[in-house]
Amino acid sequence: RPRPLIAGNWKMHGTLAEAQALACGVVACDAAAELLVCPPFPHLHPVAAALAGSAVALGGQDCHHAAKGAHTGDVSAWMLRDLGASYVILGHSERRADHAESDALVQAKAVAAIAAGLRPIICVGETLAQREAGQAEPVVAGQLAGSLPPGFAEAGGVVAYEPVWAIGTGRTPTEADIAALHASLRAEVLRLCGAQGAGLRLLYGGSVKPGNAKAILALADVNGALVGGAALMAADFLAIAAAA
Ligand code: 13P
Repeated sequence: RPRPLIAGNWKMHGTLAEAQALACGVVACDAAAELLVCPPFPHLHPVAAALAGSAVALGGQDCHHAAKGAHTGDVSAWMLRDLGASYVILGHSERRADHAESDALVQAKAVAAIAAGLRPIICVGETLAQREAGQAEPVVAGQLAGSLPPGFAEAGGVVAYEPVWAIGTGRTPTEADIAALHASLRAEVLRLCGAQGAGLRLLYGGSVKPGNAKAILALADVNGALVGGAALMAADFLAIAAAA
């Protein structure tokens, strides 16, 4: 079983002072799991300073697919790496929705991330309508096939399954549904990445809280969590980490 990864996606929240305080709260952790925080771009550098000397990793929430160039408002994978990031979240459902990111674009971003020495965390997940139509597994399999770049497992890539309807809603799939979906993810990753896919970490995301973390993280093929709201309070994030 791969070492669990507990990742905090801070999204577009907080002041600089709040980000620094949160980072200082998170470094006070002695969990067995690997911890990662992904602040908004303007807070990356000061949060890197707050994490210095700790085992907590730093990540971006997105990057551009080009290494550099005339792309106003965008941030490259190299810039993230230069600031001390080791991971980048790609293809989050909020970016797929807000910025019309396609599987092909997410794959191009993952290629750029790997070239810069970052470990991509590629997000997939179905909408409520797709789940109710019994399409969750094929939708997610299609997203994986379209978004995972060559060499993904070798580069330490991570897949995060985040059902869109579970994000920020307090609703989660049943444990049986998470286990079934993650079993299908594992099969798909083995098909796409070969034997290396066996050690690839599969995270669950969507309303993970201290109260449900232990049960979710104990499921087969759940190798960690991608946490939104509960990652904004150090105590909650560390409680989730302790459950891994
Ligand atoms: P919540 O934990 O707030 O549901 O967000 C999940 C998420 O989108 C993490 O990327």
